[in-house]
Amino acid sequence: MGLFIEVQVAPEASSKPAVVKKLVEVCPVNIFGEREDGGLDIIESNVDECTLCELCLDATEPGAVRVIKLYDQGQALERSA
Ligand code: SF4
Repeated sequence: MGLFIEVQVAPEASSKPAVVKKLVEVCPVNIFGEREDGGLDIIESNVDECTLCELCLDATEPGAVRVIKLYDQGQALERSA
C-alpha cells in the first residue's frame, strides 16, 4: 500500500499467469510485476505513481482489480462484478 493509493487484485485474477502478464503490460508506471513462479507482484514502491488511467481495469474481468484512493476517503476505481 502506498501513501495515497492502494491497489488490490483478487486472488482468482492474480493467480492466473495470463492476467498477470496483461497487468504487467498495461500499467504505465510498473505497479505490477511477475514473480518467477508466474504469480503477481505488486511493486509497493511504485504504487503512489498510479495515474488512475484505469488500463488495469480495462484489461481484466470486472471485480478483478480495485484502485483505492486513500486520500479521497477510500474512493475506489473498480468495475462491478
Ligand atoms: S490505474 Fe493505471 S497507473 Fe494505476 S495501477 Fe492501473 S494501470 Fe497502473
